[in-house]
Amino acid sequence: MRPLEPHRDVGAYALGVLGAADTFRFEEHLAGCAHCARLLEELGSVEALLAAYARWTPPGVDPVAVPSPALLHAALDAVGGRLRARRRVRLG
Ligand SMILES: [Zn+2]
Repeated sequence: MRPLEPHRDVGAYALGVLGAADTFRFEEHLAGCAHCARLLEELGSVEALLAAYARWTPPGVDPVAVPSPALLHAALDAVGGRLRARRRVRLG
């Protein structure tokens, strides 16, 4: 059991990843905390987006795949090129 840290567990609670004891403690806190209630309501849309993303992921595709080094370098080069072009426009 972890020490009680108010407001910290709202994200984990929204995703349903807290253990039983922490869920119980957070729900006790939530009953009297308008801040966490508001955050939980906002996170409901995030949970729906994540669920939709999981549904849209084609079978056999890892939804959290790590990009290859070549793809990562190409993406960084593309972003760097755009930033350099913007600087040239501002300076020019
Ligand atoms: Zn709170």
